Amino acid sequence: MNFELSEELKMLKEMAYKFAKTEIAPVSLECDHHEKYTPEIRKKAAENGLVGAWLPEEYGGAGVGILGNSIITEELSKVDMGIGLNIVAAPFGCESIFQYGSEELKQKYLPPVCAGDWVSAGAYTEPNAGTDASGYKTRAVKDGSDYVINGNKMFITNGTVCDFMVTACITNPEEKKHNSFSLIVVDAATKGVTRNKIHGKMGIRSSDTAEIALEDVRAPQSNLIGKEGRGFVQLMHFFDTTRIMVSAQGLGLSQACLETSIRYCKERTAFGAPIGSFQLSQKKLSEMAIQIEALRNLVYKSAWLIDQGTPDYTLAAMTKFYSGQTAVFCANAAVELHGGYGYIDEYDVQKWYRDAKILELYEGTKEAEILTIGRALMAK
Ligand SMILES: Cc1cc2nc3c(=O)[nH]c(=O)nc-3n(C[C@H](O)[C@H](O)[C@H](O)COP(=O)(O)OP(=O)(O)OC[C@H]3O[C@@H](n4cnc5c(N)ncnc54)[C@H](O)[C@@H]3O)c2cc1C
Repeated sequence: MNFELSEELKMLKEMAYKFAKTEIAPVSLECDHHEKYTPEIRKKAAENGLVGAWLPEEYGGAGVGILGNSIITEELSKVDMGIGLNIVAAPFGCESIFQYGSEELKQKYLPPVCAGDWVSAGAYTEPNAGTDASGYKTRAVKDGSDYVINGNKMFITNGTVCDFMVTACITNPEEKKHNSFSLIVVDAATKGVTRNKIHGKMGIRSSDTAEIALEDVRAPQSNLIGKEGRGFVQLMHFFDTTRIMVSAQGLGLSQACLETSIRYCKERTAFGAPIGSFQLSQKKLSEMAIQIEALRNLVYKSAWLIDQGTPDYTLAAMTKFYSGQTAVFCANAAVELHGGYGYIDEYDVQKWYRDAKILELYEGTKEAEILTIGRALMAK
């Protein structure tokens, strides 16, 4: 067993962090305040091979696999999880095109996203169906060579900035719930697509989140991903990889909380000594460090398994659950260690505290992860 990253991955890690410090750090707080999406940073990131890096080179990616992509995500998230998301989730939804789509779909949609010219979205959640994927109502009906789609999607990352979206639609209402829906690629500029940005998010405010209405929207039947009725299975495999990306976000954010807190604990004095000399401060730092080390091992192992062709759905759920717990714990500890200053937006830790919470909500709530793990244990 070898825990050492390859030289290529070490270089990638260094390059991604340098990119984040140079391109993202200077605008991080401003983008957070003004909910500013960052297309120019995404384009630059693409030029550096950081967008869709997990995809093979033939589709425009850097061929660094899910482990490489996790490392990129970790490093960008050390600086800003929201702007990092604009980069690593620019191909959100493309995982299913790559895994199950026709060669024609792959050639059309994947390279422009990796080049930073197009953005994709994964439109699954609906106003009344999030955790319960069997509750989708968006309907796709065949008409000539097209599908005609009607429905509403909610909380869609990249919703107003995307060029296309992988959309979960009921195609087989006569089938049992989990066999009733399919994934269909919908071009965002198609007539009948209405997109409204959701304002006022607690964290990751530079990311774009939208509500989307689909009214008699036409998509060619050739935009169906794989076979009809396979949407649920495809979505579960989508989570194999995207949950690791989200977990890597938590890893980067937690690491940033620890490093910043150590620095602050050395500088700040109370009772005539650095606050880092107090054992209660060291307890917080130690607990952060322990959880981060465990999380890094979970993230890298889960990613590595995918790259070996043996993704582990349950381990991905464990990793995602633990990432949320770790990030929320570390951000909370970082704010506490910064005292009153931690509550003021001059310091990054208040932002990280707000950003961290999303990790327990999107890509499966923490309760949904626990249910997944529990079901797997009982099936043994
Ligand atoms: C910023 C942001 C970005 C997002 N990006 C995307 C995106 O790009 N694409 C997309 O499709 N979705 C996206 N989402 C949606 C996100 O995945 C959902 O919000 C999430 O899955 C929860 O669904 P819900 O909000 O409908 O909550 P609900 O499913 O209504 O859950 C509410 C509460 O009930 C709990 N609960 C539900 N069922 C059970 C159960 N059986 N047992 C115990 N507890 C249960 C949940 O854990 C939660 O605590 C995003 C959300 C946010 C906030």
